[in-house]
Amino acid sequence: MAGKRDYYEVLGIQKNATEDEIKKAYRKLAVKYHPDRNPGNKEAEEKFKEATEAYEVLSDDQKRPIYDQYGFAGLDGMGGMGGGAGGAQYSRAFHDFSDLFGGMGGGAGGFSDIFENIFGGGSRSRRSRPDEPQQGQSLRYDLNISFKDAVYGTKAEIKFQHNEACTECHGTGGAKGAKRKPCPTCGGSGQVRRQAGFFAVQQTCPACGGVGTKIDKPCSKCRGTGYETVTKKMSLTIPAGVDDGKRIAIPRMGDVGANGGPAGDLIVVLHVEQHEYFERDGRDLYCAVPVTFAQAALGVTLDITSLDGKKIKFALPSGTTNGKLFKIKGEGVPYAEGRKGDLYVKIIVQIPTHLTSEQKRLMEEFARIENATTSPSCVPLSSLSR
Ligand SMILES: [Zn+2]
Ligand SMILES: [Zn+2]
Repeated sequence: MAGKRDYYEVLGIQKNATEDEIKKAYRKLAVKYHPDRNPGNKEAEEKFKEATEAYEVLSDDQKRPIYDQYGFAGLDGMGGMGGGAGGAQYSRAFHDFSDLFGGMGGGAGGFSDIFENIFGGGSRSRRSRPDEPQQGQSLRYDLNISFKDAVYGTKAEIKFQHNEACTECHGTGGAKGAKRKPCPTCGGSGQVRRQAGFFAVQQTCPACGGVGTKIDKPCSKCRGTGYETVTKKMSLTIPAGVDDGKRIAIPRMGDVGANGGPAGDLIVVLHVEQHEYFERDGRDLYCAVPVTFAQAALGVTLDITSLDGKKIKFALPSGTTNGKLFKIKGEGVPYAEGRKGDLYVKIIVQIPTHLTSEQKRLMEEFARIENATTSPSCVPLSSLSR
């Protein structure tokens, strides 16, 4: 089988696409390749499946950062991924776009049937058994970092709580010598019947969680849950040049899995604080320097302090217009071994709002020799220098 196409490529979007862009891109492809519109077309069906899988991962807060960092390999073993899990993984896409597909199939013979046909019928209704290994919950950690640390990279200490297997019972939930006995509430079936109006409905047994057995002597340390909540400290390396909103996945640092399943991941979401003097656009930094209109007209030497504290003298040429950007090379964000973006200095020309009598006299003299006799009026916008 040929290698899988990159999910971003499948949806035709950039790596930094927003949730909205991902949704839009998927919607477009889903409409185009929807099996209802392409009956019997295998290629369209493949494209539809491919797009749906890409959407499932990229629209998932937990899966996307893992995919970004580790690619397909990172997703192996995560719930529902890696093929074989059947229709279950597509149920969320279905839910998100129920408005889109709602009118297409109509009623009972609609979308869910299509899904079952494509994705290996019936698996959507197959519940995973409660005693099967299940991956633990992934956890989110929000970390604020300074603007400067985001540009140059840093180490951060993070402290968080997650569930680990109980050290007393090693996750079984039972005390020493405890045995699993059929659950008295459901008699071992894992299901109970409940009367709802005229109908009796099957329900997961609340006493055993559907397993059908219960431990006769629960572990005293974890009270039978099999896990304990532990506070962890970790040192995290933040690479140089990270953007606001960047997610760093730390595999298997989330909650412990159930029945021997893998732990979830810890997802660190970075929040970059604003800087008093600098703004950032990718690899470039921006700062602003106000100058008087006389300095702008005559030229002046600017004193710039770069983000890392370097003093830079910059000769502003005469005749600088308001809003003009000047580039100082190599004073931006580091992005590769020894390479950096640039620093842009924006010139803000300030017009005096109060003139002393001497300034006023000189200004009038200036205006006179400037020989601006006509009244100002509109000009073609294209003639303006920006
Ligand atoms: Zn225990
Ligand atoms: Zn039970």
